[in-house]
Amino acid sequence: MNLKSNLKHPLFRKIAEAAAELNLPVFVVGGFVRDVFLGRSSTDIDFVVIGDGVEVAQRFAKRLRGHHKVSIFKTFGTAMVHYQDYQLEFVGARKESYHPDSRKPDVVSGTLDDDQKRRDFTINALAISLNEADYGTLVDPFEGVSDIERKLIRTPLDPDITFSDDPLRMMRGIRFSTQLGFSILPETMEAISRNRERIRIVSSERISEELNKIILADKPSVGFKLLDETGLLEIIFPQFLALKGAETREGKGHKDNFYHTLEVLDRIAPNTNDIWLRWAAILHDIGKPATRRYQEETGWTFHGHEVKGSRMVSQIFRQLRLPLNEKMKYVQKLVFLHLRPIVLSEEEVTDSAIRRLLYEAGDDIDDLMTLCEADITSKNREKVKRYLANFDLVRQKLKEIEEKDKLRNWQPPVTGEVIMEAFGLPPGREVGLIKTAIREAILDGKLENEFEKAYRFMIAEGKSMGLQPVNESL
Ligand code: ATP
Repeated sequence: MNLKSNLKHPLFRKIAEAAAELNLPVFVVGGFVRDVFLGRSSTDIDFVVIGDGVEVAQRFAKRLRGHHKVSIFKTFGTAMVHYQDYQLEFVGARKESYHPDSRKPDVVSGTLDDDQKRRDFTINALAISLNEADYGTLVDPFEGVSDIERKLIRTPLDPDITFSDDPLRMMRGIRFSTQLGFSILPETMEAISRNRERIRIVSSERISEELNKIILADKPSVGFKLLDETGLLEIIFPQFLALKGAETREGKGHKDNFYHTLEVLDRIAPNTNDIWLRWAAILHDIGKPATRRYQEETGWTFHGHEVKGSRMVSQIFRQLRLPLNEKMKYVQKLVFLHLRPIVLSEEEVTDSAIRRLLYEAGDDIDDLMTLCEADITSKNREKVKRYLANFDLVRQKLKEIEEKDKLRNWQPPVTGEVIMEAFGLPPGREVGLIKTAIREAILDGKLENEFEKAYRFMIAEGKSMGLQPVNESL
């Protein structure tokens, strides 16, 4: 098969010429070639050189107009050139052998065939020649094109060898299956199960990178079910697996929170590509196993699971080497607040309850509503209809109150400094008490959100605590 028409961009000819000058064969490999057959375009392109990849990269960069930096990664023997919108990576063909208890392979130079063998899956082991004699010819030793047509994930070698050499490939296989909607060959699946323990030698960062790609797929549940089926989930994220199972006592059951969470994740996917909102969906019920109780009258309860869950977030983020910054705090906050809109919609929707929610959620209110809507997964259609109708009411009220009171990122009109000055107080407990009283009164709708009125309220509040104002009037 000749794929010349897919190599229209002048960069391919330029690279071919640079390699020809050095008398080194060069091929396009990996994801770019796979994507040609998937009808996708990609700007990350990998080139494999039979010889020194760095030399070809340097020669290519020199031939370009203007200055193009070549970044060289000595340990991997690779070189990277940014050219227009493209990231071009050059590597020498390699052959490697791994020791059973090390991640560090011995790497020696090899042929194109050696290099294709050490790729993870047949669909990623395709190459296109850039050499004079057969420019544009596809090199497909493992029937990768046929696997793309059959929508199949399969390793080029015996899967036990491929996965044992680099156990991250197990995660990558599940990731590709989830992203592309391909199935994994049964023998390949079995090999993942057999080799699952080896995932422990892979760094958490690399694992989480794949996990996040699974989470960002259109239907992330596919990946989580495969991770569960192969036993990888139990090793990399046991807290999630703990959600599984539904016990029935005296005829009273509860839903299986593992499958419920996956449903929520799939339901939120069309509404957001924000990885952290998707993480909030994954973790919203994570506190349930620890708070599960059975009471004779009411059946199963999970009281306080939102508090417990939000406390579990930092440990899970640490374990998975996810960032311990404001993104984590955002997830904690959404987990903590995830019951609020639903509770609100079950009860009478009062202005003060809406005000409180707006105050506590701040700018994250829309994301919280998106999460809560995805959380309504009941099989009872009537119930779902009622919830969604109430939700519309909550949204409408949120809009009204937001327009009226501007409570997003709101700060009470009287600050701590004003309180200290009015009563001649140093910073301390009393200032905090007065400040809270003002905030609560405004949120409850008992006091207008306005400086003068709040100032008078402050004076009265201070006096009731036995304080003497230095400045009674404004
Ligand atoms: P995506 O861009 O969607 O992540 P990709 O296949 O382009 O997909 P990269 O991680 O950039 O992903 O990898 C480029 C190529 O390098 C792959 O197509 C594959 O041939 C090879 N490769 C990457 N990682 C591995 C690995 N762990 N084991 C074997 N081959 C790998």
